[in-house]
Amino acid sequence: MIELKSVGVTYPTGNVTALTDISLALPAGDFAFLVGPTGAGKSTLLKLLYADVRATSGSISVAGRDITKIIPHEIPALRRQMGIVLQDYGLLPQRTVWENMMFACEVLGLPRPEARQRVRERLEQVGMLSRCDAFPAQLSGGEQQRVAIARALVGKPALLIADEPTGNLDPETSAGVMDALLAVSDEGTTVLVATHDKNAVDRLRRRVIAIERGTLARDEAEGAYGYAS
Ligand code: ADP
Repeated sequence: MIELKSVGVTYPTGNVTALTDISLALPAGDFAFLVGPTGAGKSTLLKLLYADVRATSGSISVAGRDITKIIPHEIPALRRQMGIVLQDYGLLPQRTVWENMMFACEVLGLPRPEARQRVRERLEQVGMLSRCDAFPAQLSGGEQQRVAIARALVGKPALLIADEPTGNLDPETSAGVMDALLAVSDEGTTVLVATHDKNAVDRLRRRVIAIERGTLARDEAEGAYGYAS
């Protein structure tokens, strides 16, 4: 699903080398945590996958497609193939949960009856169907993030990328969000989660990819977080 070969990234601003010689493969259906100290290069790695950042060297393929030299007008199609979940849930405040979900379907051009069915399914999957008439401000952070995950999944993406999805949440709420991501992976979606959530990583014991100072420091099948929290 994801393959990076000797990837390096140097940001022109300040000539910062964010990643050096990263080679990594994530097969379809895999679930992996991406860990490492702040500034290690985790976000940069995720941004490479949705073409928000360009590789300075090496090559990247996503879903069987070489995206190393992807041209700007092909980027929206690439992003439609994946779900992206960020730390700030990004729900539209003036719309209910249901309307937020339907809006995402509209953007994807899904016909209404199919959209309604998918919205129902996805909200059910993250345990939020009963709150579909609530506005984001009426939900806890964890609930909003579960809706954001459901929204990222309406297009049935083969790949879900999450960058610090529990960054703003307390440990108990985080557990609910991580469990929702795991449920997504159990359905066959490939999931890559950058996180500082030591509790979740140590509880779930999944594949752990650690980046330190822009290089691959660890890649373990049933790994631990490995840093002080
Ligand atoms: P992490 O997600 O692990 O905290 P990042 O990928 O955000 O790390 O950052 C890796 C390095 O790249 C850091 O040194 C950061 O300051 C630098 N960096 C990130 N984004 C940019 C940018 N747009 N321009 C210049 N440097 C950047």
